Amino acid sequence: MKASQARFIADAEAGSLLHIDLGALVSNWRFMRDRAGDAEASAVVKADAYGTGIETTVPALYRAGCRTFFVAHLSEAVRARTVAPEATIYVLNGLPPGTCEVYREFELRPVLGSLDEFEEWAAFCRAQGQKLKAAVHFDTGMHRLGLTVAQGLNLKNDSRLKDFEPALLMSHFASAEERDNPLNRRQIEAFSAIRQSLPGIPCSLANSSGILREEKPHFELVRPGYALYGGNPTPDQANPMRPVVSLQSRIIQLRTVEEGEGVGYNSRWTARGKRRLATLSIGYADGYPRSASSIGVSGEATTRGMAIVADRLCPFAGTVSMDLIIVDVTDVPENDVKRGDLVTLIGGELTIDEVGRRAGTIGYEILTSLGRRYARTHREAEF
Ligand SMILES: *Cc1c(COP(=O)(O)O)cnc(C)c1O
Repeated sequence: MKASQARFIADAEAGSLLHIDLGALVSNWRFMRDRAGDAEASAVVKADAYGTGIETTVPALYRAGCRTFFVAHLSEAVRARTVAPEATIYVLNGLPPGTCEVYREFELRPVLGSLDEFEEWAAFCRAQGQKLKAAVHFDTGMHRLGLTVAQGLNLKNDSRLKDFEPALLMSHFASAEERDNPLNRRQIEAFSAIRQSLPGIPCSLANSSGILREEKPHFELVRPGYALYGGNPTPDQANPMRPVVSLQSRIIQLRTVEEGEGVGYNSRWTARGKRRLATLSIGYADGYPRSASSIGVSGEATTRGMAIVADRLCPFAGTVSMDLIIVDVTDVPENDVKRGDLVTLIGGELTIDEVGRRAGTIGYEILTSLGRRYARTHREAEF
């Protein structure tokens, strides 16, 4: 084997092991499909399927019956096309200038997010003499992407709508997980008005949290993302989804520090009394957030990150370094922990939502930062 060749990272060589449960992924997709009633359930697989890997995730979902996929970038769409030759693939970030031909070649659909994109796609289709499919995105309150509601209500008189095939009208919730936020109602109303003015075109509004809202804003197609990968779409209630991702890291060595000794870069954590520490083979270079560092005096530190060591929750000690994390394992019986043992960083009570919270961020960011050095293993879905 040449050194330049990409090589499978074997378990024993890797600092950390990432396990992806495709059975749980498929079961989460089916859960969302069943909740969506008569609407079609797509899958959002942007950002390399939220860090889990487009090449494994898309075929598993396709086998389960998912036929429509959303990515963010055109480059991701080309990857998805390779593993799902028959699927419908939408690109949420729209149409980078001059890329219409790539869309045509790979049979991809842009989500047109501005009148400029709308015009470029319509002109391309006129020039080709081909009515290619695209989605049109409307801004109903997020103020990020999409035609304004006023532009949307004007479209019924726009002849360019006949130059291509508008296969989907869509908008996106800004805060679907907040049950009582009045913005949700306003977005549903604005989107419904556009839908009424452009009858006969399938519509889509709901992300994971939107699907479970009591208004059931499902329309013809729903777009779950985070929940498929185990994230909680209803943060004020128990998580109905199955965990998909688990992460374990290896203990490189164990050591003891004495009262008053500082630990890690800049000695940001200080031992109160004698403490036993385990150093793990993982760090921020693996996407584990540095903001999960534990700063202060042991026992009184602002404890953020945690690891499960021999079934016990153990706090980080000091800052997360590039390739290493130090964990205070004083409370684990000495015989239960040794060099080479695997400890859990994501899994059990350390859900992706919990790890995100402890790092001052959200589980979405934990997933989409999952590192490239992990030895990845999969549990295949059963059909
Ligand atoms: C990311 C995204 C989704 C999926 O959202 P989740 O909260 O992950 O379910 C759906 N639609 C659009 C437009 C998105 O950008």
